Amino acid sequence: MGAISAALQACRDRIDGACSRAARPAGCARLLAVSKTFSTEAIREAHDAGQTAFGESYLQEALPKLHALADLSLEWHFIGPLQSNKTRAVAERFAWVHAIDREKIAQRLSQQRPVTLPPLNVCIQVNLSGETSKHGVGADQALPLARALLDLPRLRLRGFMTLPEASGDDALPRARFRTLAQLLARARSEGMALDTLSMGMSHDMEAAIEEGATIVRVGTAIFGSRAAGAAG
Ligand SMILES: *Cc1c(COP(=O)(O)O)cnc(C)c1O
Repeated sequence: MGAISAALQACRDRIDGACSRAARPAGCARLLAVSKTFSTEAIREAHDAGQTAFGESYLQEALPKLHALADLSLEWHFIGPLQSNKTRAVAERFAWVHAIDREKIAQRLSQQRPVTLPPLNVCIQVNLSGETSKHGVGADQALPLARALLDLPRLRLRGFMTLPEASGDDALPRARFRTLAQLLARARSEGMALDTLSMGMSHDMEAAIEEGATIVRVGTAIFGSRAAGAAG
């Protein structure tokens, strides 16, 4: 077994363990393999080991990779911040966008989503740390933005995503995950048909799943560490 295949299996075991501890069904959280900075060979190896959903953060890097891997049936997720001049390629090539934080970007994606494709799945990125430098809307803006996005015909709003601030403290990300889960519960209680919590990464996927994650975004635990300066 190759290194990536073994690492994928270890991630699946961690996910299953967390689902079972949380008394959630096996497979309760999907594994999104975050392949940013990694080669198409690495992605092929993961695909051969049964992985189909991949996440990329940088459009210039992602487009040639998507092209080189067009022979495979992969589901591509755009997880990075998105500028308005980049929306068309994302609308045309990706199945999911995780980090929507502006209505204007969402409107462009909806307008640019080809009619030949199913609606684009999107999540709203929520910034729960209150740091102004971070992407994402504040918790108080999440539901108003969600209501606006539900009106866009070529998008399918699925739920919320968060990226907790770096901290040496395990309790902090868990508190953020719990807040995001409460936000989803509130949206659903207001009648929004949302089903997704995109939260948890290599080091904290168990806590995220125990708090209700339905998608964990995992890079280094599958592919190894990224070159310095390439994180984010
Ligand atoms: C890079 C990245 C990840 C993966 O992080 P790892 O620590 O490598 O698992 C997850 N989510 C986002 C938004 C990322 O940019």
